[in-house]
Amino acid sequence: MLTDRYNRKVDYLRISATDRCNLRCIYCMPQDGIVQKAPSEILSFEEIIRITKLCASIGIGKIKISGGEPLVRKDCFKLLKSLINLPNIKDVSLTTNGMLVKKYIKGLKNSGLKKMNISMDTLDAQKFRRITRTGKLIDVLNGIDAAIEEGFFVKLNVVMLKGINDDEILKFAKFAQEKQIIVRFIELMPMTDNRLLNRSFYMSCEEIKNKLKVLGSLKPIDTEVFGNGPARYYKIEEVSVIVGFISPLSCKFCLHCNRLRLTSGGILMPCLVSQEGVDLKDPLRNNQSEEEILSLIKKAILFKPPEHNLVLSFPRQYLMSQIGG
Ligand code: SAM
Ligand code: SF4
Repeated sequence: MLTDRYNRKVDYLRISATDRCNLRCIYCMPQDGIVQKAPSEILSFEEIIRITKLCASIGIGKIKISGGEPLVRKDCFKLLKSLINLPNIKDVSLTTNGMLVKKYIKGLKNSGLKKMNISMDTLDAQKFRRITRTGKLIDVLNGIDAAIEEGFFVKLNVVMLKGINDDEILKFAKFAQEKQIIVRFIELMPMTDNRLLNRSFYMSCEEIKNKLKVLGSLKPIDTEVFGNGPARYYKIEEVSVIVGFISPLSCKFCLHCNRLRLTSGGILMPCLVSQEGVDLKDPLRNNQSEEEILSLIKKAILFKPPEHNLVLSFPRQYLMSQIGG
């Protein structure tokens, strides 16, 4: 098992399958989208598989496919299926905005995927439009139902935006109870250069927990049971609901950070907010040897900083959609 300079084991790779997206969430993308990479600048299926195999050879066994919106990538099912079948890969999951889940449910099922994180920040159709700037809530709701019907293990991701959806915290708990899924509340991270948005909409997980307490007491559960990442889980026994909290700002999770991130353009990032990434695309395309690529992967692990430097108004080098949040 590989460890970094701070003795953290690194066993998790998040892959951004594409920087494209069919939504324009206010906290993630500029209104007009991003300047998209030319298809030739995006890692091919074969390149992603090669990198993953090399990562697996040094102990990375858990993969998350994210984006952009991974389901807009044409070969997404083929990619999922191949990753699931790679030796030494024990766990593959997908993070999606849910818009295309119903349409593609058979392909997802046939790929062998079992787990999906679906992002949906509101249960109100008008607010959904405001947050995503486009898109219809009903498509995500249908996607969630389709995923549940097909037996997927579903976790709902909700980015909490003060003054926009914080009046829906209890509604989300009820929704999770009805659907028998897990709901995870995520603190807003300053990933766009919109300082006003970053500051005024931020709400801490502690504030969210306090609002949930009217339903019952929050009993901590073993985190590894429900995920590979930084979320902390609690059961509210009185209503039989499991809630998760992802607190990158109020409670840094860097001490236990186990992950690397691969951008769709082939940069291996040691940290979500790192300024230093290691390019793997050009070395792959220049036919560098497996040993050379492997040493670049190890270099990225060595670059892992002790902790991130996210502050409420800091514009980032890469957008969330490019790194694969
Ligand atoms: N498009 C897919 C989706 O929305 O689920 C996958 C990519 S998206 C970048 C992955 C996750 O990052 C989503 O749950 C999204 O809500 C979250 N996210 C994006 N920007 C964020 C921000 N500024 N702060 C907190 N979470 C963010
Ligand atoms: Fe697209 Fe996901 Fe970013 Fe929303 S959060 S713009 S759905 S990549």
